[in-house]
Amino acid sequence: MADVNALVSKLSSLGFNDPPVEHAAAENVQQWADILTGAAGLPPNYVLTKSLIFKPKQPKSESIAPVVVIAANESETSPKAIGAELKLKDLRFASDEVLKDIFQTAKGSVSPFALAQVPQEHVGNVRVVIDKSLLDNADTLIAFHPLVNTRTVFITGETLQSYIRSIDGLDKVTVMDFAAQSAASSTAAAAKKPAAAKPAAAPKVEEATGASLLGVTASKEGDFPKWYNQVLTRSEMLDYYDVSGCYIVRPLGYFVWQQIQEFFDAGIRSLGVRNCYFPMFVSSRVLEREKDHIEGFAPEVAWVTKAGSKDLEEPLAIRPTSETVMYPYFAKWIRSYRDLPLKINQWCSVVRWEFKNPQPFLRTREFLWQEGHCAHFTKDEAMTEVHDILALYRRVYEELLAVPVIEGVKSEKEKFAGGVATTTVEGFIPTTGRGIQGGTSHYLGQNFSKMFNVVVEDPESTEAERPKIHVHQTSWGLSTRTIGVMVMIHGDDKGLVLPPRVAETQVIIIPCGLTVKSSDEDRRRIADACLNAEARLKMAGVRAESDLRENYTPGFKYSHWEVRGVPLRLEIGPKDLDKQSVLSVRRDNADKASMALDSLEESVKMMLINIQDTMLAKARATLDSRVKLVLKWEDFVPTLNSKCLTLIPWCEREECEDQIKDRSSRDSLGDEPEDEKAPSMGAKSLCLPFKQPENPAIVPGETKCIQCGENAKRYALFGRSY
Ligand SMILES: [Zn+2]
Repeated sequence: MADVNALVSKLSSLGFNDPPVEHAAAENVQQWADILTGAAGLPPNYVLTKSLIFKPKQPKSESIAPVVVIAANESETSPKAIGAELKLKDLRFASDEVLKDIFQTAKGSVSPFALAQVPQEHVGNVRVVIDKSLLDNADTLIAFHPLVNTRTVFITGETLQSYIRSIDGLDKVTVMDFAAQSAASSTAAAAKKPAAAKPAAAPKVEEATGASLLGVTASKEGDFPKWYNQVLTRSEMLDYYDVSGCYIVRPLGYFVWQQIQEFFDAGIRSLGVRNCYFPMFVSSRVLEREKDHIEGFAPEVAWVTKAGSKDLEEPLAIRPTSETVMYPYFAKWIRSYRDLPLKINQWCSVVRWEFKNPQPFLRTREFLWQEGHCAHFTKDEAMTEVHDILALYRRVYEELLAVPVIEGVKSEKEKFAGGVATTTVEGFIPTTGRGIQGGTSHYLGQNFSKMFNVVVEDPESTEAERPKIHVHQTSWGLSTRTIGVMVMIHGDDKGLVLPPRVAETQVIIIPCGLTVKSSDEDRRRIADACLNAEARLKMAGVRAESDLRENYTPGFKYSHWEVRGVPLRLEIGPKDLDKQSVLSVRRDNADKASMALDSLEESVKMMLINIQDTMLAKARATLDSRVKLVLKWEDFVPTLNSKCLTLIPWCEREECEDQIKDRSSRDSLGDEPEDEKAPSMGAKSLCLPFKQPENPAIVPGETKCIQCGENAKRYALFGRSY
């Protein structure tokens, strides 16, 4: 019954090719250790393992739900702790019958490879618990008996995971930190005296919530950076890349970007903007022409200095943005005021070689964006455009991504290098209490046109030699950062939560309620109903898919699509069909509702609109509750520390902004050690909001800046930020 060859070929299909080591029969772990000591052909570092099969106390009527524990031999695997972890009562060692009937194995021969022998009807009930220590150390191989105790295979933690993932329908997989658990319990037992109690090795919370290898295991509140990385990678939005600070945007993430592109592109077309493409290389001559501008970017510019093994005569920069790339051509193309306005945009990537911690979507060395560049005859026209574009940015966030933003203008210190004024939409990440710049639209004034000599003759002039007028310019950009903000705001402990408007799959249809006893006829009927619902929804313009994969339980499919953020799930089973209805389950709030089949299209469309609206309303309520009016300095740092943004009466002086940054980083520290999760970075001004608080309103000459006591001009939004 134990087919070792089949197992070896299975492992080799997973990329594992080392043959098992043969040895005398090992009746127990001690013997096994002794036999291996001194044997030839062993890896330098390995750990012996034990595989245990438990069964919880459960009613006779229920199908048996065994628990397979794969652990380092040294690990303390108390059934009580495992039961508590899995919320199962009275774990006991499984009987010989269970071993034989379900795993086709016997006491002494149990190994992870018994999992491959579980019949399909049982596999959905099997839970697997893996010792975290087996996965943590890539240099140490894991030793198992491959179904017989006369051989040993040595595999990596990764191969073990691939193997478990390769078993269809096995989806209840938990990683448990046994080492931390026993450390915690021995600390608790030993340290009765409070004085001696050190906060040592607490069990990792995020691993203790039913960790699955496929799903998200970190908790959003508990370990936000880890959670963010898991959500992005496990939803398959993004993958890591071997150049630090660069990431792969996978189809699920790229789809969101395309929805933004389509919406925004239509918006700018209606404003008369046309798309074009400029080269990514810039000569240093051109790049460095505008002094203030280049000062703002210089440290982050990446240079190409070689072609093959030869040095280039002149190094070439990779564009960090394209003002200086484009404007020499504006000078060439704009011959008369009749050539104005000139409005162009390009969709491209830019490179800013950041040295701070890279973060997917938020701070990456190369990112996708659009950059619009326009030239106008008058300042008024230019300013109108700056605001029209900003309104489109706000709509991208609010209408597509269900993310509320605050519109305003940047302070002198924070404005775009070389421009006159920068307008911005500012977002907020509640989990960290930090603001994030969402998109900026700049009025460049005549600064660049003077530098690049972009001029037209004054059409009003009657002089023979008409005076030259420098054009008024704008530039504006929105990047894939949008996607990161959306993920951070809406995602939850199950994974991604996508607003319906940008979800590649808006509705996933899953057949349910089938058992081993269901007839082929029943299966066909349910599958047809799913396909039929899918076709009808597609006809109605809904992005629907059905998941008819065999050998996966409905439960596995639910979490598969939950991690990926699909906004609405429809479950169709025999009982639903009898009632001519389906069950809908929302991703954003888990609400369930029955929908009549005959009006499915209307109900689903209404529901998707409702989900989109609910997500925005919820995020807006959070934002509103976390932007605090602060009228005296003593409240400023405590408000930041409570993960809020502040609106303060402010003098708008650059010197004062520096002092605020300085004082808020120092004051917030106090005597407390620095805590990574509650950063004590100084606050900066995020914007001067267009919508100013009215109660109390700023009284010119009377209201004072809360930091320096000078006259306050406006309310400013200050906060810690990304
Ligand atoms: Zn001040």
